Amino acid sequence: MNQKKINIAIDGYSSCGKGTLAKQLAKFLGYKFIDSGSMYRAVTLYCIKKEIDLRDENLVSIALKNMTIGFEFNTQTERFEVTLNGKNVESEIREMKVASRVSEIAAQSEVRKYLVSMQQKIGKDKGVVMDGRDIGTVVFPGAELKIFMTASVEVRSERRFNELISDGKEVTLSEVMANLIDRDRIDSNRDDSPLRMTEDYKVLDNTKLSRSEQLEIAKSWALHYINQN
Ligand code: C5P
Repeated sequence: MNQKKINIAIDGYSSCGKGTLAKQLAKFLGYKFIDSGSMYRAVTLYCIKKEIDLRDENLVSIALKNMTIGFEFNTQTERFEVTLNGKNVESEIREMKVASRVSEIAAQSEVRKYLVSMQQKIGKDKGVVMDGRDIGTVVFPGAELKIFMTASVEVRSERRFNELISDGKEVTLSEVMANLIDRDRIDSNRDDSPLRMTEDYKVLDNTKLSRSEQLEIAKSWALHYINQN
């Protein structure tokens, strides 16, 4: 594609399939897909490993100086996977021990400042599809296309549960559902950059949509904005 590049922000509740859509859309457009949640998870993993009290914002902000978060492209999964001090931690950050604490870490302003600035650098030349909770409101407020994804909590829990099980993780459906509800509550109610939908988002409720149906909708939105540029 030699059209002018745009940035695409995909925000929404936990486990709505934002990553799946972002990856497919990025592949279709020849763009970079970045999962911003993996960065919050990597910070959480670091603090757990170093036995840092996650509630102590001071200690967490000091810890930020000792960690290097990066990405490496995995040609098999065709996605950028997160690295922590040079080590690929993409699988470990999906474990419940991280999922159950990440929203506490993500509510801390110093953590957000640090990661948002990295995310903005990644997107400065455009051509990025990034998913998260504040991408269209804080990270790329000028993103040409903003998509807000949602689905029923039952459907989301089941999808996430199946994903974790097929990845060999030991979890129960009720544990996964409780975690999603808890994270959505914290993410929507925090003071700094809460998850919220503004009127410039296009809403995509995929409760009853297949992956290919949702991709077709998102592709048509993206092409509309790209052709306008
Ligand atoms: O996207 P994922 O579910 O992996 O994100 C994990 C957590 O990271 C979210 O529940 C949220 O607390 C936090 N997050 C955030 N802002 C983002 C991306 C993720 O606060 N842009």
